[in-house]
Amino acid sequence: MSVRVLLVEDDDAIATPLARGLEREGLTVQRCATGLAALEAERYDVVLLDLGLPDIDGFEVCRRLRAVSEVPIIVVTARGDEVDRVVGLELGADDYMVKPFGFRELLARIRAVTRRAQPRTDDNQPRVVGRLEVDRRSHRAMLGGKELTLTPKEFDLLALLAEAPGAVFERSRILEQVWDPHWYGPTKTLDVHIASLRKKLDDPAWIETVRGVGFRLVEPQVGADPMPDASRSSG
Ligand code: CA
Repeated sequence: MSVRVLLVEDDDAIATPLARGLEREGLTVQRCATGLAALEAERYDVVLLDLGLPDIDGFEVCRRLRAVSEVPIIVVTARGDEVDRVVGLELGADDYMVKPFGFRELLARIRAVTRRAQPRTDDNQPRVVGRLEVDRRSHRAMLGGKELTLTPKEFDLLALLAEAPGAVFERSRILEQVWDPHWYGPTKTLDVHIASLRKKLDDPAWIETVRGVGFRLVEPQVGADPMPDASRSSG
């Protein structure tokens, strides 16, 4: 079934090509240009929420949506300094993007948050992220068909990040899930494991640091992006 995106964006120059690009990828897009219209919208699987709206502040829209629904929300902001407030997650947003952003990246985030929102029936299925495959059942991680030699903690860490490629995993969540639910030790342990994991993957860009928040797994970009960019209008 096609993922239904509620696109809340007042700027036509952004919304029109973005909606077109998402539809081309097989997603269904419902567009709103105001916060009020967003709060009245129905039947969608994920919200793409611009913070700078003409009527209600995007933060407020996010708060109100979250008060009535568990739907994944990706906040879109033009200002990097708002990021801390967004990912403080007092708002209940699931992820954020800072404008200008690449279309492929946005698509990966949408897929990540909607996958995470779905009930897990395939928890033990191998996760494939580009050339990387992580299989919890056999406890093996392959990169380009070659098995990686990982310590148990490195494996658990990679397997966790691979559950939702492109999505940010907060440090506290990683420590809880990979180490111990009551981890009070030095959080430097996590950085040490991230560093060694990066060394074992062929490109350190596989694991992206989101400063002050956590980490995400992304397939390193090789060469130019052949797909349309969100900022480009076609036709
Ligand atoms: Ca705006």
